[in-house]
Amino acid sequence: MDALPSRLTVIHTGGTIASRPDPHGAGLTPQQAPLLSGLSLLGEVKISELQPFNLPGPHITPAHMETLRGLIEQQAAESGGIVITHGTDTLEETAFYLHLTLATSAGMVLTGSMRHAEEISGDGPGNLRDAAQVALHPATRGRGPLVVFGGDIYDARTVTKVHTTSVDAFGGYPGPIGRIDQGASGPEVHYFARPEPRPVYRPEHVSARVEILYAYAGWRGEGYPEAATRADGLVIAALGTGNLPPELLPLIAETSIPVVIATRTHAGPVLPIYGYPGGGATLRRAGAVAASFLNAHKARILLIVLLGLGLNKSEIAEVFEGGAF
Ligand code: ASP
Repeated sequence: MDALPSRLTVIHTGGTIASRPDPHGAGLTPQQAPLLSGLSLLGEVKISELQPFNLPGPHITPAHMETLRGLIEQQAAESGGIVITHGTDTLEETAFYLHLTLATSAGMVLTGSMRHAEEISGDGPGNLRDAAQVALHPATRGRGPLVVFGGDIYDARTVTKVHTTSVDAFGGYPGPIGRIDQGASGPEVHYFARPEPRPVYRPEHVSARVEILYAYAGWRGEGYPEAATRADGLVIAALGTGNLPPELLPLIAETSIPVVIATRTHAGPVLPIYGYPGGGATLRRAGAVAASFLNAHKARILLIVLLGLGLNKSEIAEVFEGGAF
């Protein structure tokens, strides 16, 4: 491995990697930033630590993601690499928000843990060490925010949490873009693929209300009219290639806010194939926008960003359909 750049910035945000059993509470809560002891391996590298908030993944909002973006951009010029520790439950949403908005080519990695610090064979220290080594590796620069977990390196656009408890909690189609292993004489970082070039969007706000609805056999649109009335945009985790029961077609046709169709299937694109009422081709004709390969919660993040830029429905459709994310 080439000489390490001299400064690593570690930004702690909470999650299981910072959690311990709370003696006065109901269970685990984020308490203290993860110990950096595993990072002594980095030798001469100076480490700066920041902790803008200390939250479990489910408490993270787009406003926290935007705070992180600002902090990372402040730190980037001075840092040889940046690591962000984060709760795994929403880690992919934060990674994708940063992917869409960060204007820096600094090496940057998000990680976390599935086991808390007091558990036998906790995975936090190993993930943190791997993340630091990947962030500082010269080949990481310019790849955008990455996720390192269990030695696998993932692209922010495609990574997703695939298991509730396993230490191999991350995956997603088409899989890792690289791998880090600890070789006999130090870390071995290998990349197999480069993320596609990413845009840099600068939304004026991230306060758009975008709700997700989940489709199922026999759904007659319950909850849709209420959501369409109060929200600024909707995402539907639809069936297969992006199809819905027939009752949804007229509802979507009369909706004025953007409606993005993702899939509840775990891999593959949304395509306008079927022409029966509610089929993907009819939803498109009714004005719905296909989420491409993005899962529903990443499509939501993109829609929040695009609404925060003031884009109208047809401009939003162009971004999703042109793959500008
Ligand atoms: N529920 C936790 C969180 O997202 C899980 C984790 O950190 O891994 O904060």
